[in-house]
Amino acid sequence: MSARTVLITGGAGFIGSHLCDRFIKDGCRVLCLDNLVTGDKRNIQHLLGNFRFKFIHHDISKKIIVKGPIHFVLHFASPASPIDYMELSIQTLKVGALGTHNALGIAKAKKARFLLASTSEVYGDPLVHPQTEDYWGHVNPIGPRSVYDEAKRFAEAITMAYRRVHKVNTSIIRIFNTYGPRMRMRDGRVVPNFIYQALYKKPLTIYGTGHQTRSFCYVDDLVDGIVRLARSKVSMPMNMGNPNEFTILELANMIEDISGQKLKRIKKPLPQDDPKQRRPDISFAKKEFGWTPKVQLKEGLGRTFAWFQQQRQEK
Ligand code: UDP
Repeated sequence: MSARTVLITGGAGFIGSHLCDRFIKDGCRVLCLDNLVTGDKRNIQHLLGNFRFKFIHHDISKKIIVKGPIHFVLHFASPASPIDYMELSIQTLKVGALGTHNALGIAKAKKARFLLASTSEVYGDPLVHPQTEDYWGHVNPIGPRSVYDEAKRFAEAITMAYRRVHKVNTSIIRIFNTYGPRMRMRDGRVVPNFIYQALYKKPLTIYGTGHQTRSFCYVDDLVDGIVRLARSKVSMPMNMGNPNEFTILELANMIEDISGQKLKRIKKPLPQDDPKQRRPDISFAKKEFGWTPKVQLKEGLGRTFAWFQQQRQEK
């Protein structure tokens, strides 16, 4: 069988670049498409000399014709941290809507399997806990987070429409909080924020009471799940994330332990519509692929902390 070609939009981003690594390792050709708005070329620098890897500097919200065969289209382009998508609100809506439309168009033309990176944010501030795929969500359609949440909900809708109307071979992954090396230190999400604060001996910023919960998945576990979903025939949305749930205060304590120092806490207002709880029900992924995350939070945070520490030293 000839080598498979994978187009990854957002390929220079946090999760996208780990996917590039994985598909290159698996012997595929990788076309990495990114407009570098929140992605970073340093994430794929080590791949640029590889003859099976190609970087395309382009915004997928605009039309593009890609030459040659493509077997998989993985649509990962989007700002993903709340401060990024609130600042880049129109771009976020466009990449979820027009970008998904264009990526689906490529999959249709190439008869490729399509995988949409969706999000636990489609569940909004969930009233069902843990979240199962059949839950329709509790989203404020006009609030500050809506630019991301509704863009992804539209992206899911158009993906299913392309499946029904154009018979494109589609899949949808709903990604829960993911962390690991190559997150941007200043992207505003809680894990890089706390690590940055610990590295620079600043107080940890706790939004609200800190009793809100999240379930954090190490990036390697997620990538493993994405590859299984891409290579399968599953078409219905699938949750992927680590079902171990922690409060933000518990996360702060862990970061303190890992950094080996006492850190102050400073309270900040809870952002509007910040979900109070979030935890994936991963029974579907378990049943289909026997997939379950392996890396415990403490271990993954340790690896991530070490990576950020090294980045700082290299500066
Ligand atoms: N958060 C916090 N301090 C920070 C950054 C975030 O307490 O410095 C909280 C935030 O209010 C939310 C949780 O941590 O409840 C996760 O936020 P993040 O931005 O990482 O992602 P979200 O899951 O909200 O998309």
